[in-house]
Amino acid sequence: MPMNRRNFIKLVGVATGVGLVGVPYISSAAEIMPNKGRRVVVVGGGSGGAIVAKYLRMADPSIEVVLIEREKNYIACPLSNLVLAGLRTLEENTITLGGLAAKHGIKLVYDDVTAVDPVAKQVMVSAGAISYDRLVLSPGVDYRFEEIEGYDMAKTPEIMPHAWKAGPQTLLLKNQLAQMKDGGTVVMTIPQAPYRCPPGPYERISMIALYLQRNKPKSKIIVWDANETIVAKAALFKKGWAKHYGYDDKDSTKGIIEYHGNSKLAKVDVAAMTVDNGVEMLKGDVINVIPPQRASAIAQQAGAVNPDKRWCPVNQITFESTLVKDIHVIGDACIAGALPKSTYAANSEAKVCALNIARAMNGKELIAPSHVNVCYSYLTDKEAVSVSGIYKEAEGKTIAIPNSGGLSPDLSELEAVYARSWMQNILAEMTT
Ligand SMILES: Cc1cc2nc3c(=O)[nH]c(=O)nc-3n(C[C@H](O)[C@H](O)[C@H](O)COP(=O)(O)OP(=O)(O)OC[C@H]3O[C@@H](n4cnc5c(N)ncnc54)[C@H](O)[C@@H]3O)c2cc1C
Repeated sequence: MPMNRRNFIKLVGVATGVGLVGVPYISSAAEIMPNKGRRVVVVGGGSGGAIVAKYLRMADPSIEVVLIEREKNYIACPLSNLVLAGLRTLEENTITLGGLAAKHGIKLVYDDVTAVDPVAKQVMVSAGAISYDRLVLSPGVDYRFEEIEGYDMAKTPEIMPHAWKAGPQTLLLKNQLAQMKDGGTVVMTIPQAPYRCPPGPYERISMIALYLQRNKPKSKIIVWDANETIVAKAALFKKGWAKHYGYDDKDSTKGIIEYHGNSKLAKVDVAAMTVDNGVEMLKGDVINVIPPQRASAIAQQAGAVNPDKRWCPVNQITFESTLVKDIHVIGDACIAGALPKSTYAANSEAKVCALNIARAMNGKELIAPSHVNVCYSYLTDKEAVSVSGIYKEAEGKTIAIPNSGGLSPDLSELEAVYARSWMQNILAEMTT
């Protein structure tokens, strides 16, 4: 349904009548509305949203910033794969936004944004409409589950967890591994890129292999990757798997990890616990299906997603949608050229976006962006690897500056220390 004003009213007409009593607000709706000055509304208080809200207030404290997040506790994904091997707890990845909001004068609303009206410049929450001068969407990803035959978005993840949003799904997968018999088979399927966190699946393979080696040594993990080969840090992952888990690139059936590229999941059967790629069928005791992904639903509803219904095209300097005026999209949901879909990138995009929104609202010249990204991956309890890059805008595209980054030379204990330290900094930046 195209989102014009009439359709928006049809969609939200009932909700606008809801009273203000008892709605889960920190700031009451009366405080938030009406819009008396210049207001930016941010939807999603994750890696991108929390940072854009904070940096907008730092760039210009006269701009009112309203941050809307549906979850009271934000559970960050980086290092959540370590939970599967018992090397970290989800509590260590969990933050709340109250301190950040109080310190920077951000109006924090805990609610679900159910609609965006780009014509009236309003978003809908349970108590009514909140108007904006500019809107920033950082809502993360949802799944293109309809591309997998037999996949039911409500039921399948309860049997075959994706664990691609850290939280109960991570714990479900961890518990399934704990309950599996020694000698069992774990099956993992990886979607075609682009998806959230390019090296994430391969870190997960490593963490599951570590868990099996230590606890269920007769077991193995079989991986079907829709991509031709490992999407990120391929040589380092293969080296680490060979060193620690008996991986043989010429015959991967030998070790704990059996990896197959060019193997795209077509069908699941939760009753039979099988997956099918159109050529062969595989049975697993534990099945981790990571579905193909798209920008989260609210970006679609706002009209900011490309006709292929996947990601949001944006101006690479301002992160303003090229499809909808005054709506900016950052983080995993947007197309940011060579930048990967990572927390580090979302954090970097948020800062550029905040600064350029503040400058545009004050009639100042925009700044040319420069971004940094580093992605760490654990391969064992002690060793990790990393890939880094520096990016700039060139002729409307975000490109990696040649020779600006690269891979860590080898697996190393120091990289693992850097990874934990980076995570501590990222979470500190989101909470202070
Ligand atoms: C297993 C795994 C490991 C990873 N490891 C790393 C790593 O090591 N390093 C790294 O840099 N990245 C890593 N990532 C990627 C990283 O988690 C994402 O790239 C990052 O979280 C993207 O930030 P975002 O702001 O786009 O989305 P998110 O951080 O997911 O935030 C989106 C927020 O929006 C909220 N939201 C969505 N819709 C609405 C709505 N309608 N109303 C209100 N709120 C809404 C959600 O509740 C959520 O809190 C990993 C990801 C996974 C899955």
